[in-house]
Amino acid sequence: MCGIVGYAGRRRAAPLIIDGLRRLEYRGYDSFGVATLGSHVEVYKRCGRIPASIPDTRSMKGTLGIGHTRWATHGAPSDVNAHPHTDCTGRIAVVHNGIIENYASLRKKLERRGHSFRSETDTEVIAHLIEENYAGDLVKAVQESVKSLDGSYALLAIAEGDRRIVAARNASPLVLGLGDGETLAASDMTPLLEYTERVVFPEDGDIISITPQGAEILNQGKPVERPVELVNWCVDDVKKGGFEHYMLKEIFEQPRVFYETARAADPAPLVDLLRVTPALTIVACGTSYHAGLIARYLLEECAGIPVRVDHASEFRYSIPPVRNPVLAVTQSGETADTLWAVRAARSRNCPTVALTNVVGSSVTRLADAAIYTRAGPEVGVAATKSFIAQLAVFMALADRLGGGSLAGSIATAHLSIGDLLQQDVEEAVAVCGRARSIFFVGRGPFYPVALEGALKMKEISYIHAEGYAAGELKHGPFALLTPETPVVAICLPGPTYRVMISNIKEIKARGAQVIGIGLAGDGELADVVDVFLTIPGEDPWVHILTASVLLQLLAYHTARSLKTDIDRPRNLAKSVTVE
Ligand code: GLU
Repeated sequence: MCGIVGYAGRRRAAPLIIDGLRRLEYRGYDSFGVATLGSHVEVYKRCGRIPASIPDTRSMKGTLGIGHTRWATHGAPSDVNAHPHTDCTGRIAVVHNGIIENYASLRKKLERRGHSFRSETDTEVIAHLIEENYAGDLVKAVQESVKSLDGSYALLAIAEGDRRIVAARNASPLVLGLGDGETLAASDMTPLLEYTERVVFPEDGDIISITPQGAEILNQGKPVERPVELVNWCVDDVKKGGFEHYMLKEIFEQPRVFYETARAADPAPLVDLLRVTPALTIVACGTSYHAGLIARYLLEECAGIPVRVDHASEFRYSIPPVRNPVLAVTQSGETADTLWAVRAARSRNCPTVALTNVVGSSVTRLADAAIYTRAGPEVGVAATKSFIAQLAVFMALADRLGGGSLAGSIATAHLSIGDLLQQDVEEAVAVCGRARSIFFVGRGPFYPVALEGALKMKEISYIHAEGYAAGELKHGPFALLTPETPVVAICLPGPTYRVMISNIKEIKARGAQVIGIGLAGDGELADVVDVFLTIPGEDPWVHILTASVLLQLLAYHTARSLKTDIDRPRNLAKSVTVE
């Protein structure tokens, strides 16, 4: 996890890098640091969030430097464990995203050879290895050093006596930005957007020499060319635009995101595969997994295609005997568990397709083909618009395979999502804000909608929340129902409506308060629940989207009432690039 930024150019590197790290803070935020190279290497690093101003970095004048915002894997968050890490002499500095799996044995060997270590991190071994291999040519030293490393890394190194940044990548994300007389490197594109739209995605095994004039890439010791791509995100996409939080801004972007993705995404690679082999396995984590569960209902009901959905983290270790296409869903394209699941699927000769929001991300290079959502950069740690964008692709896919049966839903969904955003959730927020635990229940496709609603609630409000298939609650969890354990029940017209009403009555009979989510004007539901939240429109497929957005708003406003750090919830990071 974590974010790294490197800069080589004509401007002062430290403030520019710190600004870039702020854009990456969603990836990790327990400590941060920067190192610049002027006449010598200077390092500033601290435990905690990046403050609004850091007077101590004003003396750092170098125009070349590296920075890091950390999500600790080895060693607690502390000043000394923060990156950059230096060698024994302090003339070499390194930032690293990933995990060096053999660091313990490397550390022992280096200590035996006289190196003294300051931190508890796995990363520090890299600085000492480079120290041993450095004789004025940093590229050679990094090339030699990474030969000893097992594990994942995107790393940036600087050294006195060599005026460039040297980067190396293996299974952790890295993107280069080619500006005019300045070159950047970062964990994702967001820190680059202000300086250039020309980006390059290095591949595993690449060693990159970065100077203001550009980047030279070596692989296996030989120069290689990687294509220069143009990004279509702009810097305004990563600003808050007047909203109190990124999460709220991103929730409000969803009508546009749905509209654009449903029309622009091209599901053809998967359509072609499913026409030949009509069965699909979806692998994903977290919110993307919930989108996959919803896709199962869409594809099975609209297109008659059987779908199984696996947690990517489980799939790798118990690969089912599937031969059908495998779809990997990952917003960032860098989720380590999902990447491993794709490798596992490939090892079984399954055709693989990626569904992601990030052009050029690792999953797109690993899978046989890629489908892109058009959510734009998502900064809030809790996924919102990327989820709706994934559902837009699944609806477009089901529509194509199902002979156009979803065309009407796709045409109007953005309008219903827009209407839903006006919904007042205050009364429900008051109930949730007092709760120690909340159940979210639904049936059919509203079961995964409930799972996602519970995930949003727990991620940002820190209230324990569980999503359940409504019919399962009586098989155990009823024991937990009390007046302090509200139940959010999604109850919309359709085959499960009557049984949901019965379930709600059973819940009420056990003393729990029910927040019902139903169709505007549904008097029967309104009469049985304690708080009634309505969603607009008559289209059952669109209800999946609007109910999801309503639960995002409920989580957001509950968290806001509890004054939690909504955009950066504790212990989390957005892009989970470790297993
Ligand atoms: N493994 C390194 C550490 O714990 C890097 C973690 C990260 O990617 O932030 O410092």
